[in-house]
Amino acid sequence: MPKRADLPEHAREILGRLEREYPGAKCALDYTTPFELLIATILSAQCTDKRVNMVTPHLFRTYPDVASMASARQEDVEEIIKSTGFFRSKAKSIVGVANALLDQHGGRVPDTMDALVRLPGVGRKTANVILGNAFGKDEGIVVDTHVGRLSVRLGFTKETDPVKVEQALIPLFPREKWTLLAHLLIEHGRRTCEARRPKCGECVLNDICPSAEVEA
Ligand code: SF4
Repeated sequence: MPKRADLPEHAREILGRLEREYPGAKCALDYTTPFELLIATILSAQCTDKRVNMVTPHLFRTYPDVASMASARQEDVEEIIKSTGFFRSKAKSIVGVANALLDQHGGRVPDTMDALVRLPGVGRKTANVILGNAFGKDEGIVVDTHVGRLSVRLGFTKETDPVKVEQALIPLFPREKWTLLAHLLIEHGRRTCEARRPKCGECVLNDICPSAEVEA
């Protein structure tokens, strides 16, 4: 584990290397509007982005805007999104959030953390995804399973609670990099630093990672 005083430098080095390794890192969910990203993010809970991207074209063709989604029958939405898992609660959230947008925000997705987390089924992680990707606002850092795991392995924190991980990362990285940082860590987590079998032997962070299992 790097010493506390060395952490900013350690973080800077890791960010630089990951930026060079994954120059095209971006949100893996397909969307064309903030509303579509909100729905896709709700669907991505406990599901791969790839699977979500297989379902959303049909969903968005059937319900192309907030108003049509708000008046959808939950069973019909369930049928379309079934393969993403937890489809009953996700369908309920989707129809519920569309109704809340109509009732409270004139059918638009709000662009502030406060307003987003007040929407039903929207937590800080989802709000960070929307703010960073749909609105270009670095308000926080998305901490999903990859970001959480890599933050511990790379020595940024010992915490596992996502809110605490986010608080540990925030002072280590420049604000304008917060959204990108999550994309980079997610990409690295998917391709190299996998949960069960990290490919330490082919990892660009091997020589500075406190959890490296083999030398490069
Ligand atoms: S060296 Fe291993 S544990 Fe460290 S980031 Fe790379 S793959 Fe993950």
